[in-house]
Amino acid sequence: MKHIAVLGAGITGVTTAHALMDKGYEVTVYDRNRYAAMETSFANGGQLSASNAEVWNSWATVLKGIKWMMRADAPLLVNPKPSWHKYSWMLEFLGHIPNYRANTIETVRLALQAREALFDMAAREGVDFDHETRGILHVYKSAKSLAAADRVSKLYAEGGLSRRRVTPEEMTEIEPALGRDYVGGWFTESDSTGDIHKLTVGLAEAILRRGAHVHYGREVTKVAAEQGGVRVFAQGDAPAFYDGIVVCAGVHSRSFASQLGDRVNIYPVKGYSITVELDEPSQAAAPWVSLLDDDAKIVTSRLGAGRFRVAGTAEYNGYNRDIRADRIRPLVDWVATNFPGVRTERVVPWAGLRPMMPNMLPRVGRGRAPGVFYNTGHGHLGWTLSGATARILADVVAGTEAAAAPKPVALGSAQPA
Ligand SMILES: Cc1cc2nc3c(=O)[nH]c(=O)nc-3n(C[C@H](O)[C@H](O)[C@H](O)COP(=O)(O)OP(=O)(O)OC[C@H]3O[C@@H](n4cnc5c(N)ncnc54)[C@H](O)[C@@H]3O)c2cc1C
Repeated sequence: MKHIAVLGAGITGVTTAHALMDKGYEVTVYDRNRYAAMETSFANGGQLSASNAEVWNSWATVLKGIKWMMRADAPLLVNPKPSWHKYSWMLEFLGHIPNYRANTIETVRLALQAREALFDMAAREGVDFDHETRGILHVYKSAKSLAAADRVSKLYAEGGLSRRRVTPEEMTEIEPALGRDYVGGWFTESDSTGDIHKLTVGLAEAILRRGAHVHYGREVTKVAAEQGGVRVFAQGDAPAFYDGIVVCAGVHSRSFASQLGDRVNIYPVKGYSITVELDEPSQAAAPWVSLLDDDAKIVTSRLGAGRFRVAGTAEYNGYNRDIRADRIRPLVDWVATNFPGVRTERVVPWAGLRPMMPNMLPRVGRGRAPGVFYNTGHGHLGWTLSGATARILADVVAGTEAAAAPKPVALGSAQPA
C-alpha cells in the first residue's frame, strides 16, 4: 500500500498524515474548509489532560445530568426533540456503564502514551503552540465532589498517572491567582496545555513541506471501497483512487463509515469556549496554571500572556453549531466570579462539536473493507489523545502494530464494526 487519503484536517487528520509520512506513505489530505483546524480543533479547552480521562459512562454522571436538566445555566443541555440518532446513542452510552472502570484506565494509559508522541511531532517540526507545562489543577468547592475525585484518582493510578491531593493553602501556592473558597484539589504536575489550532496548522504546514498533497476547500461528497482500494469523490476534483483511506472527519465520520460498510456511532456533543483577551492588569489576575472546576465542568488554559481560554458545556442538539448567548454567559460569569480582576470586555465566543462514541473510546483501526481505516471519535479528549492514536493507526496501516512500543491499548474500536 503506497498512497493513502486522509479525510479531515483537524488534529486527528493532520497527526495521522504526519505519522503515515514517517512510515514512508504518500499522503493526500482532504478538508472542506480553506484551512486546517477550522472545526472542532479550532478553539477547544486547550488541556492535554490525562487527568480528565474519566469516561462519562457512570450512574453518578447520569444522575447529575438529570438534575442539571432542570437548570437553565447547567453544564448539560439536551434538546428533547425526538431523534433516533440521539436516543439510540444515549442507550448505547448507558450500555457501557459496566465498562466505566476499564475504559477510564484505558483512556489514562492512552493519554500518557500520547504526550511524548505529540511533543515529539511539535519539536521535530519546530511548531510553537503556546505550550504551558505548569500542570492541571482540579478544584473543588464541596467535600462530596472532592471525595468523588479521590475515588477517580485510584483508577488513574492504575492507569499509571500519578497526581497529588492538595490543601487550599497548597492550591494558592500552585496558582496564586486562585481564590480561597475551595475545600481542596488534585494537582497533576505532568499535564499541560496548548493551542490546538496553532499546533494543527503548524503540522499541516509541515506535512505540506514534506510533500503531502493537501486539498483544502474540497467537500468530500462520497467515498467508495473498490477492488484494491478506495475512491474519493470531492467537489472540484476528479474522482481519485487511493490504496487506502483513513477517516478522520470528526462528527462527520459516521456518515463516511456507513458508505464504507462500517458503523461508527459518533454523536456530536456540542461545547462552547470563550477566549478572554487580557489587557495588562488582567494578565496578572488570570491564572497560568490550567484549572478544571469539576462542579461547574469548566476547564481553563492560559495561551501565552495575552489570552485566557475557558471552555465547557455538553449540549445534545444534533449538528447545530450556533453560538448561543445563553451558553456563553455562564462561562463569562464563571470568570467574573472566580477571577474578578480579569476584565471580560473583549471575549471571543466559539462553539464546536465533540465527536463522541457511546463508550467514549476513539475508534482506531481497520474497517470492514480492505484499505479502510479510522482514527476518529475522540470526544472530549481529541487534543489529549491524538499523538498516540496517530502512531497506533500508522502502525495498523503498515501492519507493524505488533512491533509497536508501547503496545497499543485495546481501544474498544480496533475491531471492524
Ligand atoms: C468546547 C470544547 C472543549 C474541548 N476541550 C478539550 C480539551 O481541553 N482537551 C482535549 O483533549 N480535547 C478537548 N476537546 C475535544 C477536541 O477538541 C476534539 O476531540 C478534537 O478537536 C477533534 O478533532 P478531529 O480531528 O477529530 O475533528 P475536527 O477538528 O472537527 O476535524 C475534522 C475535519 O474533517 C473535515 N470534514 C468533515 N466532513 C468533511 C467533508 N465532507 N469533506 C471534507 N472535509 C470534511 C472538517 O472540515 C474538519 O476540519 C474539546 C472540544 C470542545 C467542543
